[in-house]
Amino acid sequence: MVEIKLKKGKEKAVLQRHPWVFSGALEKIIGTPENGDVVKVCSANNEFLAYGYYNDQSRVAVRLLEWDENQQIDMAWYEQKINKAIESRAHLLNNKDTNAYRLIFSEADFLPGLIVDKYADFLSVQILSTGIEKAKSTIIDVLVKALQPKGIFDRSDATARTHEGITAENGLLWGEAPAAFIAVKENGITYHINIAEGQKSGFYCDQRDNRLLLAEYTNGKNVLDCFSYSGGFSLNAFKKGAKQVTSVDSSALAIETLKQNIELNKFDAKNHIAIQADVNKQLRTFNEEGKKFDIVVLDPPKYAPSRSALDRAARAYKDLNRRGLMLLESGGLLATFSCSGAVDIETFKQIIAWAALDAGKEVQVIKQFSQPEDHPVRLSFPEGEYLKGLLVRVL
Ligand code: SAH
Repeated sequence: MVEIKLKKGKEKAVLQRHPWVFSGALEKIIGTPENGDVVKVCSANNEFLAYGYYNDQSRVAVRLLEWDENQQIDMAWYEQKINKAIESRAHLLNNKDTNAYRLIFSEADFLPGLIVDKYADFLSVQILSTGIEKAKSTIIDVLVKALQPKGIFDRSDATARTHEGITAENGLLWGEAPAAFIAVKENGITYHINIAEGQKSGFYCDQRDNRLLLAEYTNGKNVLDCFSYSGGFSLNAFKKGAKQVTSVDSSALAIETLKQNIELNKFDAKNHIAIQADVNKQLRTFNEEGKKFDIVVLDPPKYAPSRSALDRAARAYKDLNRRGLMLLESGGLLATFSCSGAVDIETFKQIIAWAALDAGKEVQVIKQFSQPEDHPVRLSFPEGEYLKGLLVRVL
């Protein structure tokens, strides 16, 4: 096995179990690894540190997976890691109200670059590292054995792959192809999802808990759900008795799916307004019209893909939230989210404070939102924490 020696002092993060070794930390490569090969990482004093996937195309030259020298990264190893990830989600697996969730969450489950979402009887897989790409057939075998899915679909058409020097993929990996729309359940609500063409891997199961939390405030209210996608927040609001819901998303497929979902759950379409538009433009229009809502949800896509994009992203979050806050009167609620890993909760609070100041509103935070248990955060990998949100009341 190829051995990689780190520069002096660079072993510290590895000893703390951080799973990324940046290219600048490498002192010497003994051998000629191919991208995606498992390599042995050693300290400057030649002490074993960990095994990881090598990739010279990536800023993260080695993605670490195993800190025990006696382990071999073979089929049995993948089986053990995958089964452990599945077992740790056992109570979700047994939940009759939910059959859409994340089974494997990359570094958090010691499989850097592998995301597996379970949607009823199908699995949607994203492969975002060369190491996982090389182990693909082993991983598929293990998933089939453990879960007997109807089909496994590859949704690796994510930009992250380009950072790893691998081309985008989108297609059936194993078994039966899912129908254009398959039905899943989350917290007792039925959703149609399009595994092949929907966003991300088809659905945003990371908002499961937050949809439920927010729904508690929606009885009898007039709710604006911005960046609604297939209607996670909208449908939960209806379930809890919202009087009217307006959902805004720029994607035609999202709006179409949301309309199907309203019907599937037998909510009254008369109380629903679906608008296919750019949220910022729509908020401006609502403000010009003097429109008001009781609750505004803002769940935008990732504005800060990296730390270097933070300043621009902060301005975008601020403008968006200022516009959202302007639509609320005293007692109104803003549920605002950021899924940018580079924006931590303290920074996010600061941004919302600026937005409130600019909107001329005094606000209180009454709840903090985070990511659910199937998207766990390994404390040795704080970068895995990406979803945060605030429930803010206008005074
Ligand atoms: N709240 C959703 C998830 C939102 S994901 C849920 O609970 O499932 C972000 C959504 O924002 C996507 O559906 C995407 O189509 C939409 N989007 C991205 N940019 C947009 C824009 N400028 N205006 C409106 N929608 C946008």
